[in-house]
Amino acid sequence: MPQDRYAVFGHPINHSKSPRIHALFAQQTGQAIHYTSQDVPAENFREELKRFAAEGGRGLSCTVPLKELAWGIADRKSVRADRAKAVNTLVLGKDGRLFGDNTDGAGLLRDLTVNLGLTVTGLNILLLGAGGASRGILEPLLAMKPRRLIIANRTVAKAEKLAIEFADLGSIEALPFKALASESFDLILNATAASLSGDLPPLPEGILAAGGACYDLAYGNQPTAFVRWGGSMGAKLSVDGIGMLVEQAAEAFFIWRGMRPQTRPVIELLNAERSQAK
Ligand code: NAP
Repeated sequence: MPQDRYAVFGHPINHSKSPRIHALFAQQTGQAIHYTSQDVPAENFREELKRFAAEGGRGLSCTVPLKELAWGIADRKSVRADRAKAVNTLVLGKDGRLFGDNTDGAGLLRDLTVNLGLTVTGLNILLLGAGGASRGILEPLLAMKPRRLIIANRTVAKAEKLAIEFADLGSIEALPFKALASESFDLILNATAASLSGDLPPLPEGILAAGGACYDLAYGNQPTAFVRWGGSMGAKLSVDGIGMLVEQAAEAFFIWRGMRPQTRPVIELLNAERSQAK
């Protein structure tokens, strides 16, 4: 049977789990797709996208550092992608036009609320980082009506810009890391890229409320520095972003193929493979 082609572009891309996840979705739903990964730095994005489309590619996942670029390139975009000014899912139309969507926020919220059983409404939330991932998750997070959402980022001006951009959606404020010492949060989300280099954002002790939870959007075969920090602070739950990765991929699969795969067996399988790799 001929297979429709999909791929994830990004840089670096070597440890991407997306090809494995989409292969599992295809197997589960009986869809004939072939999904690969390709190392594409920002300066090669347009050229590689053109080549992939010319070779019959049907859809693309875009990851660091391509999401904002993909938003700029797409001919049509979903409302949520436009709000985020970032695209992680592209549909390559037969007429050569590109449709861009952003499934990161839906993926995170589904992992938090459905898989992990957290209630976001009424919580004091700290969001670390003000890059593409934060842009994608702010709208659905604020839609859940947290009591207060603080963004802290190494470059404070970027957090301030985001707080202004999303202020119409709820209670959102930017603070520098050093101003966090007097605060207390029920949920801390790490959307910085610090974990990718084994680093931890500069977090004061005592900012996690009793019974609070920590969630790192980054993931790896080992617990990230932030997941370990959450554990050492007594978090009731301190997990990485593998569930979000699977959920955002399922949402992309739905956009491309019109059917929604079951995510729980895929998350369980990836977790089992990770514990074997340790
Ligand atoms: P990005 O656009 O490059 O933004 C990176 C952010 O991290 C910026 O806010 C940056 O601060 C901050 N940062 C980088 N190194 C840092 C350090 N050593 N200490 C403190 N802050 C640091 O990247 P992104 O697309 O937002 O991705 C962020 C993370 O989310 C990555 O780990 C990515 O893998 C993860 N992610 C996971 C999923 C998933 O499905 N699980 C989806 C999307 C993203 P400055 O502004 O000061 O540079």
